[in-house]
Amino acid sequence: MRLHEYQAKQVFSDAGIPTPASELAGTVDETVAAAEEIGYPVAVKAQVHVGGRGKAGGIKLVEDKEEAREAAEDILGMDLKGYTVERVLVEEAVDFVNELYVGVTMDRGEGEPVAMVSTRGGVNIEEVAEEDPDAIAREHIDPAFGMHPYQARKVVYDAGVDRAIANDVASILRTLYQLWDDRDGSDAEINPLMVTGDDEVIAADAVFNVDEDALFRQPELAEMEEEGEFAESELERKADEYGFDYVRLSGNVGIIGNGAGLVMTTLDLVDHYGGSPANFLDVGGGAKADRIANALDMVFSDDNVDSVVFNIFGGITRGDEVAKGINQALEQFDEIPKPVVVRLAGTNWEEGMEILNEDLVTVEKTLEDAVQRAVEYAEEVEA
Ligand code: GDP
Ligand code: MN
Repeated sequence: MRLHEYQAKQVFSDAGIPTPASELAGTVDETVAAAEEIGYPVAVKAQVHVGGRGKAGGIKLVEDKEEAREAAEDILGMDLKGYTVERVLVEEAVDFVNELYVGVTMDRGEGEPVAMVSTRGGVNIEEVAEEDPDAIAREHIDPAFGMHPYQARKVVYDAGVDRAIANDVASILRTLYQLWDDRDGSDAEINPLMVTGDDEVIAADAVFNVDEDALFRQPELAEMEEEGEFAESELERKADEYGFDYVRLSGNVGIIGNGAGLVMTTLDLVDHYGGSPANFLDVGGGAKADRIANALDMVFSDDNVDSVVFNIFGGITRGDEVAKGINQALEQFDEIPKPVVVRLAGTNWEEGMEILNEDLVTVEKTLEDAVQRAVEYAEEVEA
């Protein structure tokens, strides 16, 4: 779950990281009122979950009331990379001489968190990482000990940060690491960390992504989630509602299974037989008829899906239950929207195979056959 800039700034500021004075606004009048209160110049910044808002026209610096009104009119309601802007952060503009980058994330390769500092802030850090990886200094942290002060100083020094501000930057980095650790962050980032002519250091942007599986113990952050807002798409919102583990992919073979490993195997097999998976969908253990119907609803409502393969291995989940669920779900249609192939194994698989209505689905005995059939169906639709 990604926090909005204004939310991340609140979290950072509460932890002692300097941030500019700011106010959230949802209308043009509110924007102007906030700008008047803060005093010009101010930055008007779109609050949507995308990076690179600056380049995309979602951030405007304004000098007076008239410009504040124009900026609000332009930005509020605009479409920014597929998101409609409903609120702006009105913020005291920072008169900066330098823009730094500081961030903390998990380095999966090393199996340890890593703190990063660069003097090439203010631009897309992924691009910097590609072009000139040495421009980003890195320091791995042992989470058992936390970030030692010397580690913070070292990475700031390695990045070539000016001496006059090195201590302040190091202290901000340690706070950022502490937040990342305490608040179950997946990524914490300040880009840019602005440096003023008087050697003041201030967080002009803030990114904080929280590990969603830890939200149960981060009630304060969980409260910041706004209804349905963090779903990438309508489909992911639906998956959330149904309680499925779901990831949308780019192919056209819809995949439903019970158990993550089983679904992964099905994905691999679809790929192996020359098809392309449209999704990962794990209905979980003990899936009853209504869950099966919901799973079918998921793949049927995905425009990318041309065929569906069901891979069920009965354990707690009983084959006859699943078969009933598939029948019930499909009987609701006058015409089945996309061909469905089913493979049942494990508990009650024989009962299940008997129950399945072969007017509605194709039944295959082996996973290999089921996957190949689904890939063929998808190819027929494509052709
Ligand atoms: P992002 O593009 O979504 O990452 O948004 P940022 O908050 O990082 O802003 C992008 C850029 O806008 C910054 O790197 C600055 O160059 C500029 N900017 C943002 N806020 C201010 C500000 O308060 N003062 C000035 N002068 N520029 C700003
Ligand atoms: Mn930024």
